[in-house]
Amino acid sequence: MLARPETRRCTECGLPYGAAGFACYHGDIDQGPAYWSDRGILCSPKCSLAHWKRRDADGSLPSVPAADPFLLDQPPFRRR
Ligand SMILES: [Zn+2]
Repeated sequence: MLARPETRRCTECGLPYGAAGFACYHGDIDQGPAYWSDRGILCSPKCSLAHWKRRDADGSLPSVPAADPFLLDQPPFRRR
């Protein structure tokens, strides 16, 4: 199987998923990101808050929680 470039990035700052400093659920990259929205993944509490404030300011906050973006993918996303 061919390796693929990392296409998942923080929607706020562009940090690639898996890079140093990207917050993962329980600190485990195999469990996916710790933060996300309906528009993508977020790398940190700082970017999560910035994303929420920006969405609040432009009136685009969603009314329901976003689905886990990694659970939507089939087959499950894996990074080794
Ligand atoms: Zn970020």
